[in-house]
Amino acid sequence: MGAKILQQDRLPELVDELISTHEVIGPKDELSYGRITSASAMYLSDKIPVRSLKEFLFPQREVLVEFQLAADQVRLTTPTIPADVARVVFASCPCDAAAFPILDQVFAWDYMDSSYLQRRENTVIISIACENPDRACFCVSVGGSPIESEGSDLLFTPLGEVYHVEIVTGRGKALVAEHAAFFRESNPEINRQRSVFEERSRAKITKQVDVTGLPEALSFDNPVWETVAEQCTDCGTCTYLCPTCHCFDIQDEGSSARQGERVRLWDACAFADYTRAHAGQPRPVHYRRYRQRIMHKFKYYQENFGETLCVGCGRCIRHCPVSVDITQVIKAVRE
Ligand code: SF4
Ligand code: SF4
Repeated sequence: MGAKILQQDRLPELVDELISTHEVIGPKDELSYGRITSASAMYLSDKIPVRSLKEFLFPQREVLVEFQLAADQVRLTTPTIPADVARVVFASCPCDAAAFPILDQVFAWDYMDSSYLQRRENTVIISIACENPDRACFCVSVGGSPIESEGSDLLFTPLGEVYHVEIVTGRGKALVAEHAAFFRESNPEINRQRSVFEERSRAKITKQVDVTGLPEALSFDNPVWETVAEQCTDCGTCTYLCPTCHCFDIQDEGSSARQGERVRLWDACAFADYTRAHAGQPRPVHYRRYRQRIMHKFKYYQENFGETLCVGCGRCIRHCPVSVDITQVIKAVRE
């Protein structure tokens, strides 16, 4: 859809203009993205935040319905998602944005998840290309790249004094048109510099894993699952930080049985009570829970939707308290 140029020193002005008309989400610190109320509060760094963006479209705790029993009446109230909250995510990592088209397939599959889909519809995502991927990043192995535009509406690539601005979607195009005074046309020299940027960034990604033919190679009955799962403590950190993990539980909470809320809460296949039903826990043994995570990401999801449930962001490697490395696990299972 074309490309533009933005002077880097005009970025704060653009962000403040967006804040005047939109709810703007951006990196707040090394830990997380959050609501930004002034461009000066944004934490622009080349490090990927610890927490991913998914909580802004798929909150960790979400009220589905409020209930109240009065006499023989049951009153149900469904919280509304305001359709007119226009939101811009600014400075997303490309891999965080790339997770959303993957999540879209789940949330618009056999059930249309209106709260996720409405937030998705209302959100414009502006990503900044990755200049310094770290040792845990492996996006290139799962089809991504440091300048991946999938899932973004606009992709900014920092090139010295300017950003190269790739217009990826109609939503991105509309945002550029609304703020046309900030942008000028790109030119062949800037396009060339962007190719050099990509080459340099890609070269910094040293972690690799071969996912070719992985769905066929992953065997449910492979005895190696017990060995590779030994190190994992089932803490669930990797699933909560993962931008593509999307399992949830639905529970009733309230001060009494007569009044309360039905809530959706993130859940994790690592937890011992995950999917427990009246008949018991289908995966009572630890290694089976660990196997489920890997099989879901690299086999079941691929079979259902034709792609891998992983964008290679490296969070599960970077933040695992006992240094489990998913790429090493895949290699071990393959071998
Ligand atoms: S973060 Fe590490 S220890 Fe915790 S569940 Fe994931 S793999 Fe296991
Ligand atoms: S599995 Fe790990 S590397 Fe892949 S998207 Fe999730 S957190 Fe990132």
